[in-house]
Parts: sequence; structure tokens; C-alpha cells
Amino acid sequence: MMPRDVDLFVIGGGSGGVRAARTAAATGARVALAESRRMGGTCVIRGCVPKKLMVFASEFREQAALARGYGWNAEAGAFEWQTFRAKLDAELDRLEDVYRKLLTSSGVTMHDTRAQVSGPNTVELGDGTRVAARHILVATGGHPVRPDVPGAALGMVSDDVFKMETLPGSMLVVGGGYIACEFACILNGMGVEVTQFYRGPQILRGFDDEARDIVASRMRGQGIDLQVNTNVVDLRPAGADTAEGGASRPNESGGSASATGSVVATDTNGVERRFESLLFATGRAPNSKDIGLEMAGVAVNQRGAIEVDAYSQTAVPSIHAIGDVTDRVNLTPVAIREGQAFTETVFKGNPTAPDHDLVASTVFTQPELGTVGLTEEAAREQEEIEVYSTSFNPMRTAFGDRPNQVLMKLVVSRASRKVLGCHIVSDGAGELIQMVGIAVKAGLTKEDFDRTVAVHPTVSEELVTMQTPTRAT
Ligand code: NDP
Repeated sequence: MMPRDVDLFVIGGGSGGVRAARTAAATGARVALAESRRMGGTCVIRGCVPKKLMVFASEFREQAALARGYGWNAEAGAFEWQTFRAKLDAELDRLEDVYRKLLTSSGVTMHDTRAQVSGPNTVELGDGTRVAARHILVATGGHPVRPDVPGAALGMVSDDVFKMETLPGSMLVVGGGYIACEFACILNGMGVEVTQFYRGPQILRGFDDEARDIVASRMRGQGIDLQVNTNVVDLRPAGADTAEGGASRPNESGGSASATGSVVATDTNGVERRFESLLFATGRAPNSKDIGLEMAGVAVNQRGAIEVDAYSQTAVPSIHAIGDVTDRVNLTPVAIREGQAFTETVFKGNPTAPDHDLVASTVFTQPELGTVGLTEEAAREQEEIEVYSTSFNPMRTAFGDRPNQVLMKLVVSRASRKVLGCHIVSDGAGELIQMVGIAVKAGLTKEDFDRTVAVHPTVSEELVTMQTPTRAT
């Protein structure tokens, strides 16, 4: 046995890997973890956390406008990106430190280096050191991808947004998923002139249609120039044909972190427009390349996701994988559950399959879209349903000068009466759907919702007061 032998070697210090490492170490196992970038991974360093702080920062302009409706002589003024950015950097440093301390106090040995699998029970570190491990856990996450269009490197990806040196005056956001819609709203709120291209007929494909329509209409109402059935076909530096444009500087993600490197984008309709900056939010791919998986015999599917069974075990019994690299449900809390289930299964002798059913999530657009369970469209494919849906202008924004339509919606099984899905478009939908998620997960019926007395006056009381189905099939 080599002196550095461990019971578990975790590759990847994101939410899933860190949770697995800590819980395994708590059982007395000798655990090591390698991370090549910053400890905390996508969620903490270049995802959920900095994004949510940007959401908060971006909401004050609208709040000042609403305050004026209530009689306050309020002006949000101009947003200072540099001030925010300094605070953001400090907060991410603090959080990374918290993650490091958590690992150290749990007895996990950290390696700040790239690591790769070099056999069923061996990991090779960046400096060539080999570590023998009884179990290997691959938790390497994913990365944003650019589409294959000429000049694609001129666009930023989500990783780059948090590192912008200046806030651009205008930005083209390409994509219609979580990240595209969230950043379109954030940047618009910060005062950037935002255009968003989505290649399909409506943004947020896969979410409830009624909810998608309301989010899209609210985004347009806030000034985002959302163009559907539109995509980018070509990009070139504006500097090539305009005096005012500067050249973009490539960065570590292969794109431009500079918000001043203007680009000229040609769209599918042949229209050319100049933007100060461009963000590709066109999906993410698993980090499964060049980490020795093929050599060890670990199977990877066509999308590059590691193939695992219900217990996160790969084709090689000593190697497990969790989180975005397995492309199951790509959400931080799911990766954390997968990490915990891994420890239960492998280190506590209690085989536990992570539960991927009825996972609630929220798109942090403005307003937010919170969702759990089946959409109306998916439920109707499955069985006969009743839909209870109401959309209205909530009391809070009644004095505002802008329509603020919200949606409260329940999708109910006619046979079992169970609430199959809930969709909320509203400020604070993320907080609301977390609670409704408990009821839907518990399999509660429409009548259980009806038995619950409303909290008045609230927006969400509608969820327990809707008496008559809006539609039934
Ligand atoms: P998504 O898969 O949600 O969206 C990708 C978007 O890019 C889609 O609109 C897709 O269109 C579009 N697209 C893909 N390829 C191209 C192309 N070649 N040209 C133009 N458009 C293209 O990915 P995201 O990157 O937004 O998010 C990744 C995952 O991260 C999410 O699925 C989610 O699991 C997680 N996430 C969760 C968040 C949260 O919980 N709040 C926040 C951010 C991310 P189409 O629909 O036509 O395929």
C-alpha cells in the first residue's frame, strides 16, 4: 500500500463532490479531493450564488419605480458595476474559504490540482503523483458551450459574466433556457439594453406553456427585446468595420471577458446589428473529457455524460459519478442529494438511490417561475386532468405604472385527485414553490389544498381558494 492511499478519492470540489467527501469522511473513511479551479465549483463560484446576488442587485431599479407609485420621491440612480463586482469578488472569496474550512475540519485532504482517473483504483494528480483509492467519485460538473457559428469566440459564456470589467451598454443574449432568461432579466435590470434571440417559438421550452407566455410577456414589458424564431448565424468584431468598436480579448474560456469588445451579429433573418457584448447561454455539457474515463473503462454516452445506475455506480464497480457530469437532473440540490446517497450506499452499507422525482426548481427571471411536477401539457398526455389557473395583477404592484401579471396554477389528476404539478409566476416564486413542493411530493390532493385555510391577503392564497377548474380534459 502506498502511503497516500485513501478509501475515497473525489474528483471535483463542487456542491456534490464536497458533500460526498464530507459525509464519507464523517464515517471515518480516509478521503481526498482534487479541484483544479476554485473550491465550491459552478454553483458557488460561477453559477447559482453569484447569479442570485446579481438578481438582487438588478431589482432595485424596479423597486424604486414602484416606490414612486406609493408616494416616495425615489430614484434608483445609476448602477455601479465596479462597486458591485468588488463586493461579489469578496463574497466569493469568503465562500470559497468556508468550503475549504468545511473540508479541512471534516478531515478531507485537499489537492488544488487537476486529477484524472488512471485505473479502476488509481487517480493521477497534475504533478504525476498517483494515489491508490478504494473508491473513486467523479464529480467534475459541466461547462457552458458555444454554438458552432463563425466568430463564436467573440461571445461570452455565463462564466465570463461575473468577471466583466465594465457593464456593457448593450448585450445580445442567445438562448432561451434558464441561464439566458435569467441573465437577460438581470442585465436589463442593471440598465443594459438587452436583446435576446431564441431559436424556437417560445422561451423556456419544457416549462408549462401558460407560465412561459407570461414570463415572456413580462420580460418584454420590462424592455427586453425578445426575438423568438431567431438565431445568430455569424459574428464579427465591430472594430473590423466601425470606428467605435474595439477588439475583443480572448480569455480562459476561449471567449471575450471584455464588455467593451463590440460585435456585429447577423441573425437568421439576415439582419446585422452591433452589440457592445454578446452572451451565449446555449446549454452546458458534462466535464468528462480528458479525465481518463475511457482508459478506466467508464462508459460515456453521446452527450458526454457518464453512464451510471440508480446508485450512481459506473460500469466500473469502484468508480461512481454524481452531479452534472452524469446529466440526470442538473441542479445543485440534486447533486448534493446524489453525494449523500453515494455515502449512504458505499460507506454506510445502506443502498440508497437518489430520488429524481418531483424536484422543484425556479428560473430566477423577473418575475420568477417556480415549478414542480408535470406541466399541463405533459399531464394531459398521461391522463385526464383538471387545471386550476388564475392570473392577476397583485396588490403589491397595484400602485405601479406597469402591469405585473402573476400566475398561480395547479394541474390535478381527475382520477386520483392528486396535484400533479404546480406552476407559479410571481416575485418570490422560488420561496413559494419550495413549500408547495412538499405538498406535491407528499402526494396531496386538490381537496387537501382546499381544506387548507388561506393566509390573507397574499398572492399564494389563490392556491387554496381556486374552486372551479379553468379547463378539464
Ligand atoms: P438549457 O438547456 O436550459 O438552455 C439552453 C438554451 O440554449 C435552450 O433555449 C436551447 O434551445 C438553446 N440552444 C441550444 N443550442 C443552441 C444553438 N446551437 N443555437 C441557439 N440556441 C441554442 O441550458 P442552460 O445553459 O440555460 O442551463 C443549463 C442547466 O443548468 C439547466 O438545464 C438547469 O438544469 C441548470 N440551471 C438551473 C438554474 C436554476 O435552477 N435556476 C439556473 C441556471 C442553470 P432549445 O430549447 O431549442 O433546445
